[in-house]
Amino acid sequence: MVERRKTRQINVGGVRIGGDAPIVVQSMTSTKTHEVEKTLEQIDRLHNAGCEIVRVAVPHQEDVEALEDIVKNSPVPIIADIHFAPSYAFLSMEKGVHGIRINPGNIGKEGIVKEIVEEAKTKGIAVRIGVNSGSLEKDLLEKYGYPCAEALAESALRWSDKFEKWGFTNYKVSIKGSDVLENVKANMLFAERTDVPLHIGITEAGMGKKGIIKSSVGIGILLHMGIGDTVRVSLTDDPVIEVETAYEILKSLGLRKKGVDIVACPTCGRIEVDLPKVVKEVEEKLSSVNKPLKVAIMGCVVNAIGEAREADIGLACGRGFAWLFKNGKPVKKVSEEEMAEELLREIERLG
Ligand code: SF4
Repeated sequence: MVERRKTRQINVGGVRIGGDAPIVVQSMTSTKTHEVEKTLEQIDRLHNAGCEIVRVAVPHQEDVEALEDIVKNSPVPIIADIHFAPSYAFLSMEKGVHGIRINPGNIGKEGIVKEIVEEAKTKGIAVRIGVNSGSLEKDLLEKYGYPCAEALAESALRWSDKFEKWGFTNYKVSIKGSDVLENVKANMLFAERTDVPLHIGITEAGMGKKGIIKSSVGIGILLHMGIGDTVRVSLTDDPVIEVETAYEILKSLGLRKKGVDIVACPTCGRIEVDLPKVVKEVEEKLSSVNKPLKVAIMGCVVNAIGEAREADIGLACGRGFAWLFKNGKPVKKVSEEEMAEELLREIERLG
């Protein structure tokens, strides 16, 4: 069991983050925000995949204008992502967003950040302090020479202290670098000193397999240390894959339950059936099932008994057939041709 760091709880449009709340899964749209229909369509897809908060980029005035419609029609809280233009932070709050994300390092003077925070306080809006290796304050870059973990943590602590001094507590912090080890260290240094909830992720992780592995390692290490109250996997890909990856990471650490957990053997020379075909078919058919369920699909009896004992339902294959297991007990012998269908039928019966 992972023991989570004790953090204070904040609220982003009704979604609780920190404290005893489950670790929240977030993502960010990749559409032009002002293309409202496309943006809402992507938000719906993200929501269907289990995304609980969505961030949208607000780089132009037309994006600010679109926020009202997006917030009104979104099934999940919306966070406006603001860089360089403090005026968009104020306008986004007027349009009803549930949270704003700012990198104080690129917003400008401290006085402006304070005004944004005061407005957020008045309107009951959450703020995320974003500290990224690419937008660190000049003085910290001069002090440390490069955006190392110590510099990132110092920036986050500095802004966190200011928020506290200004009497604002409905905020979380993200410290993100693309280097996994620096990222982990920076989050550890911050987590040691405060109870502020942390939004974790590896920024600019990249595409496909590489991005997923890098994110899983970085996020996984932090989560295993109990650090992280909300997660975003950043991939150069369809954001729905970010959400699916985030859940797989959380599920593998026992931190969230969602959908079917398929345990499948890696196959070896003992295999007598086309197991990858069965696993693929079952995975596809069960991708929309949200009920937490453990399904074991094993190539032979070597590990099948042990895995089946732990699973709700499973298959242990032999030569051209499989035993169907339910709650650890073999209940039926099925042929290779019908094993996927039979398994799916039994899962349906489980409700
Ligand atoms: Fe090989 Fe059987 Fe293990 Fe699958 S369960 S990897 S077929 S020994």
